[in-house]
Amino acid sequence: MFQTSVLASGSKGNCILVRSKNTGIIIDAGISLKRIWAALEDLKVPRSIIKAVLISHEHSDHTRSAGALARSLKIPLMITADTYTYCAHRLGKVQDWIHYFETGIEFLVGDILVRPFRSSHDAADPCNFRLEHDERSLGIALDLGYFSKLTILRLQSVHSLILESNHDLKMLMEGPYEPNLKLRVRSEHGHLSNEQAVGLISQVMHPGLKNLVLAHLSETNNHPDLAHNVMNDYLQSIRSDTNLIMADQYCHTPLVDI
Ligand SMILES: [Zn+2]
Ligand SMILES: [Zn+2]
Repeated sequence: MFQTSVLASGSKGNCILVRSKNTGIIIDAGISLKRIWAALEDLKVPRSIIKAVLISHEHSDHTRSAGALARSLKIPLMITADTYTYCAHRLGKVQDWIHYFETGIEFLVGDILVRPFRSSHDAADPCNFRLEHDERSLGIALDLGYFSKLTILRLQSVHSLILESNHDLKMLMEGPYEPNLKLRVRSEHGHLSNEQAVGLISQVMHPGLKNLVLAHLSETNNHPDLAHNVMNDYLQSIRSDTNLIMADQYCHTPLVDI
């Protein structure tokens, strides 16, 4: 068994569950504990299998309740040293639970192999992840301004992929954000647009890609139907039967087999 659900995703908070039979990992905890517990209960995933909370970068939409989660379940809070420096104030007392990892160096949580790799984002040490179990693999690529050769290399041959589809460029440029925030979002250290998400998929597409979850959609500069249609048009054009799933800010996705 190797499954995932995006418990929540968007600029107001991100949280992903990945589980094997006996090991669960929460990747980022940018929503309240109450919402995490409710989602786990809804998905019938016992809290007791959660063995670690893993942090991608320090922004509050990824770390808001990470400290509370580690303390509550008495599980390791896995984070890079630079990321910890920049969000220690938000995590509270976590000295007993901190486990440092280094970007680029793989490690095991229970029977799940975690391979963190560098992303391009305006944070201290931002990571994307590839997770592997029982010859299946999941890619998680959120909060990246552009995709590098390394991104493509790490996401190649994954069986499921959770991918950022943050904004529609036209909606961003004509929308209410201040000019410098618009620049930040579309910069190499910002977020992937719907079209960039298609560009990335076109480079990692293979017949074994079973699930594609579009995530981290902007509520201001995107619309789920728009992001869905842009990607769906591409998938149809290559006659792909990949399952396209939209992550949501307020509701978890189904628990899918990776
Ligand atoms: Zn971020
Ligand atoms: Zn984010």
